[in-house]
Amino acid sequence: MKTVILGGGLTGVTLARLLNERQEDTLVLEAQPHIGGLCRSVNIEGFTFDSGGSHIIFSRDKEVLGFMHSVLSDNIGFRNRDTKVFYKSKFVKYPFENGLSMLPKEDTFYCLNEFIRTLIENEKGEGNKPETFKDWIISNFGKGIGELYLIPYNEKIWKCKTEDMSLHWVEGRVPSPPVEDIIRSAVGIETEGYTHQSVFAYPVNGGIEALIHAIAEPVKDSIQTEYIVKSIRKDGKNWIISDGEKTVYADSIISTIPLQSLIPCLEDVPLEVKDALANLRYNSLVSVFIGLKGETSPYSWVYIPGKEDGMMHRVAYLSNYSTNVAPPGYSAILAEITFNEGDEVSSMNDTEIIANVIESMDKLNFINKENVVFSGSAREPYAYVVYNLQYEENLKVVKKFLKLLGIPLVGRFSQFEYLNMDACIRSVMDYLKERPVKVADQE
Ligand SMILES: Cc1cc2nc3c(=O)[nH]c(=O)nc-3n(C[C@H](O)[C@H](O)[C@H](O)COP(=O)(O)OP(=O)(O)OC[C@H]3O[C@@H](n4cnc5c(N)ncnc54)[C@H](O)[C@@H]3O)c2cc1C
Repeated sequence: MKTVILGGGLTGVTLARLLNERQEDTLVLEAQPHIGGLCRSVNIEGFTFDSGGSHIIFSRDKEVLGFMHSVLSDNIGFRNRDTKVFYKSKFVKYPFENGLSMLPKEDTFYCLNEFIRTLIENEKGEGNKPETFKDWIISNFGKGIGELYLIPYNEKIWKCKTEDMSLHWVEGRVPSPPVEDIIRSAVGIETEGYTHQSVFAYPVNGGIEALIHAIAEPVKDSIQTEYIVKSIRKDGKNWIISDGEKTVYADSIISTIPLQSLIPCLEDVPLEVKDALANLRYNSLVSVFIGLKGETSPYSWVYIPGKEDGMMHRVAYLSNYSTNVAPPGYSAILAEITFNEGDEVSSMNDTEIIANVIESMDKLNFINKENVVFSGSAREPYAYVVYNLQYEENLKVVKKFLKLLGIPLVGRFSQFEYLNMDACIRSVMDYLKERPVKVADQE
């Protein structure tokens, strides 16, 4: 009984490991020369950068968190989160609503006043039921916090108007604060938000990719890299998979690759499915790597909602995750920029993007460009699922087709959901609970 797992990112290697623990025979097929997907890291000139953007280990899910911590064994460090929002040239505490007293007084008043006004409206039952992400922001936080931070930040990262986004994904991802915390933070009493992330873990050595290698260790001989799955056919009960040169046979398959990579591999895909797939939106990412002489700011990462402050929406200070990501006396920084094919960022080459980001960061005094000793970049075509208003409808059509074919979908772009690492591992665990052990014996 052989199961082929399509894709060797976090989800694929976790599936292989846990199936192996059940004595099931697996083979992972990964397109790239290295496993890891979005959790890859690059080591260049003594610096380590996470090429799919800044990654930290955190979770509310104790079982999954325990799994990630335990596989890393000694190669793990813990840090207190010290994250800011860069707003009107100030570093405001994150989440923004926990830093209200740090805003200019007029803005603090606007945020608090609008928050209370919305709260009263909701209590009286006068507020409209939110139908879009923008409605949800305003009805949970008020117009002030919405207009000053949440809307511009979200529109910068999603490259999509918040009124064109659905809201069913936000719970647990966009933190909703207790009322008392907003009032406390507005008058200057220290509060913490998003507390399950206030202490996070990160590998001491090797960047986030070290987590992938630690998970993959017992199954590394069952992984084939540089195998781009190009066609998948079913012949009776068997699956026939090919990269155009080499054929692989399987009794069952599990896909962890993006739907946009999977569907073109299949035969006789109905037009309706192709159309639905074409309308599923996602964002790509450029990560800009900066190696700096000397120390950087003490922050973990900084959100940058203002378009005028540069094209990057977030800057992460990787040396504050682990000092080993840079040679002694140097620091590693990573800036993230989302883009879509055809937009302004996609028309720029990497050299232009790097120069633009360094210039912006120098202007904001995040860095002194004279101290830059290394720069580089990486692109990820599939970085963020964008929950537009047609998302649910389109995804249903695609998933129904794949369910009929018998291809289980596990993972971020396979389920086409905003899943963090913990949620991917949770999906694997939940999928395996449903999957009969030793399928072959039961047939
Ligand atoms: C900017 C950013 C920051 C993030 N930060 C965090 C964080 O701080 N903490 C956290 O928990 N999560 C974070 N995440 C989420 C995390 O990256 C994902 O949850 C996780 O990496 C998804 O793993 P996956 O295996 O499902 O998908 P992927 O990593 O996308 O893996 C899919 C794999 O399939 C392969 N593939 C694609 N097509 C084919 C093909 N035709 N044939 C063979 N192989 C193929 C790809 O090469 C890839 O290796 C972040 C994500 C982004 C984009």
